Amino acid sequence: MNIIMLGAPGSGKGTVGIDLCEKFGFETFSTGAIFREEIENETELGKIVQEYISSGGLVPDDVTIKIVEKGLEKYPNGAIFDGFPRTIAQAEALKEMLAKNNNKIDVVLNLNIPDEDIIVRTASRLTCPNKKCGATFNSKFMPPKVDGICDRCGSKLIIRADDKPETIKKRLKVYHENTEPLIDFYRNEGILETIDVDIYKDSKEDNVNRAIEAIEKHK
Ligand code: AMP
Repeated sequence: MNIIMLGAPGSGKGTVGIDLCEKFGFETFSTGAIFREEIENETELGKIVQEYISSGGLVPDDVTIKIVEKGLEKYPNGAIFDGFPRTIAQAEALKEMLAKNNNKIDVVLNLNIPDEDIIVRTASRLTCPNKKCGATFNSKFMPPKVDGICDRCGSKLIIRADDKPETIKKRLKVYHENTEPLIDFYRNEGILETIDVDIYKDSKEDNVNRAIEAIEKHK
């Protein structure tokens, strides 16, 4: 199955996605995690993408699409796409790439959360820098069992530089301008499932259970 996690930065795409992977045996394909690793390893690609990421902008479509084209072969049985596509051009390219292998997107999980809640939540977000893990925690809403350490892989958790409130505000603007149109794009394809997230009431499990129900409808 191919599933897209859609939603603003900090909406819980990564967190819910990881639990879905554990439940269904899927794997996450996160363009953000790939880019962060390239930056960390100081590769050519890392140098190209660094400025876009640290300013809260989007990496250009041609660069991003190439990365996905290259990476897709590692996921012959499908994937959970976290953070891709982020533009209509990327969505169209993904559709074409999958169709070449008689594949398609089965369901798009749209995590709907007000901007003001995103700003509150990302201010205390902690991220595991290990690309194979990528778990996120939150010192206020979902603390790790051991302070500062990833529950899943034991790596030291970091605060992402692009989670700073000023950068998050820019990322939200970029989300509304470039990524939000994908909601209608996938609604028209009949595969959109929206999950309304209330950060004060819902536990992670509540959102994961809603996501599981939505996936079951499209199996
Ligand atoms: P994420 O980890 O998904 O929040 O991504 C972190 C940053 O990486 C984003 O703010 C963008 O700068 C960049 N990025 C990740 N995925 C994409 C994408 N599909 N298209 C363009 N830029 C991306």
